[in-house]
Amino acid sequence: MSSKRVLIVGGVAGGASCAARLRRLDEQAEIVVFEKGPYPSFANCGLPYYIGDAISDEAKLLVATPELFRARFNIQVRTEQEVLGINPEARKIEVKDLRKGSVYEEAYDALVLSPGAVPVRPRLPGVNLPGVFTLRTIPDSRAIRAWIQESQPRNAAVVGGGFIGLEMAENLARRGLKVTIVEMLDQVMPPLDREMAEYVYVHLLKNHVSVRLADAVARFNESGGRVTSVETRSGAKIQADLVILSVGVKPESQLAKEAGLELGPHGGIRVDESMRTSDRCIWAVGDAVEARDTVTGELCFVPLAGPANRQGRIAADAICGRPARFRGVEATAVCGVFGLTVAMTGVSEKRLQRAKDADYEAVYLHPTDHASYYPGASEMHLKLIFRRSDGLVLGAQAVGEKGAERRIDVISFAIQKGSTVFDLEEAELCYAPQFGMAKDPVNLAGMVAANVVRGDVRLAKWDELPKGGAFLVDVREAIEFNRGSIDGAINIPLDQLRHRLSELPKDRPIWVHCARGQRSYYAVRILQQHGFDASNLSGGYNTWEVWYPEGLPSREVTQAEQTSRDRAA
Ligand code: FAD
Repeated sequence: MSSKRVLIVGGVAGGASCAARLRRLDEQAEIVVFEKGPYPSFANCGLPYYIGDAISDEAKLLVATPELFRARFNIQVRTEQEVLGINPEARKIEVKDLRKGSVYEEAYDALVLSPGAVPVRPRLPGVNLPGVFTLRTIPDSRAIRAWIQESQPRNAAVVGGGFIGLEMAENLARRGLKVTIVEMLDQVMPPLDREMAEYVYVHLLKNHVSVRLADAVARFNESGGRVTSVETRSGAKIQADLVILSVGVKPESQLAKEAGLELGPHGGIRVDESMRTSDRCIWAVGDAVEARDTVTGELCFVPLAGPANRQGRIAADAICGRPARFRGVEATAVCGVFGLTVAMTGVSEKRLQRAKDADYEAVYLHPTDHASYYPGASEMHLKLIFRRSDGLVLGAQAVGEKGAERRIDVISFAIQKGSTVFDLEEAELCYAPQFGMAKDPVNLAGMVAANVVRGDVRLAKWDELPKGGAFLVDVREAIEFNRGSIDGAINIPLDQLRHRLSELPKDRPIWVHCARGQRSYYAVRILQQHGFDASNLSGGYNTWEVWYPEGLPSREVTQAEQTSRDRAA
């Protein structure tokens, strides 16, 4: 083994896991971690819950201390030491001791950059007022807790409805504040497709969080030198004596840039598969780097803890001469909000549409998390996106009280392994009534999608519904239909369908739906075999409710539609 000197910038997720792995591989190496904050290896993912008091003991956020690093791993962790610059030619870094103010140099054989990301702070009037916070570190969360304690705010505005915004909304509500989320897009949780985000939106409203969509903050107002309200571009004024900015993060790549290292299209550090930068003695990991998207093959910026930890290990392996390769990211993520789990992996439909990729289909399912006859089963909403031509799995999104993340985990791994919907059909997954179903939601999603790829069933597109032209048939029971129906649909319950075929047109497409998509699948198979041009509206009425919560945009009913409806009524 060599006795190389490895310096690591940043001592949290990527940096700490790299340091520990290095030591396991090389007992002789000198390993020094520089962390500008007061703590290495803290649980940033737990910060919202510390603010909400679900975690009340701050010490629980400290995963490993400098003392533990020293005693267990023989690793030096220097806190409150900011790395100011890198000299790649001399293989030296310049470090500032933030306690003493002095600056010194350190030489390295290998350097690992894991400086993370920085929260975006939009340049808006009043953004630096007392009471306006971002959240990244333990001191940030301490400051927010102190503000709640000392200023007793009653109204909070959370700017940005992504992961951290939603977690903060819940935790501030838990502390008794009235919370408003302001989100620039027309949906919360931007990585989701809009209709899947609708479940989250409705859930937030049910939990008394106000949500202002498609509106952006324009300024922060003050009184007595502290924030009092947020004003939006549309002119709305939201009372807020506490504001959390959660409008995203950007890679902390300044050090790398100044050292002349190559950056990627998103401003993150460019690395190869072994996490090596454009300098052969410097590696970089975590939020600061760009990684390859498994599905699209493009470079992307995915600031998540899982990739950071795995990349830290891979950099350590590579430094120690082991063959190591980061496989890329599927952007698999999960968020909990008021008891609802929101999970996703791979690409969304809107991303494919933006890329003008038309070779895909999406199916919706609404299965229960475990056998419905066993107590406590709850519905989840699952969307699977796959390539139409060969069934390759491209992405999935799931929302539900229980079991959503487990299904997304399985599909995420399927994506990483380049699996198809036929593989999902055959996946062998845990089953007992209290845990799942003999046909697990993952299998079901695979089966529904495989029917499409095999050509056994055609899908109608929800977004084409407003265009009209198709004859809409609802095959639910009349009692279900009377509780609510899709604008313009006629009701022919599945069990009556074979006897009422004469009521259906042969010269127009027929779009069939039921409550969740299963009965309509049976109906489509019947209709297709009787020569009708029938397609399934995947996910049924349940999906309709999130696609068109306000009903269809109004459109004139054609004479042909009216005649068909009159005959069927
Ligand atoms: P970090 O863990 O941020 O560590 C970087 C460290 O480098 C920092 O401590 C910083 O002080 C230090 N540093 C930076 N520059 C210098 C310098 N010049 N000199 C010395 N030190 C420096 N991800 C998930 O997957 N799931 C979650 O539930 C989740 N929740 C989150 C909640 C919050 C509130 C936050 C802020 C993040 C969350 N994340 C979550 C993201 C996750 O924490 C990050 O993806 C992960 O920590 C990235 O690891 P990293 O090592 O790249 O950066």
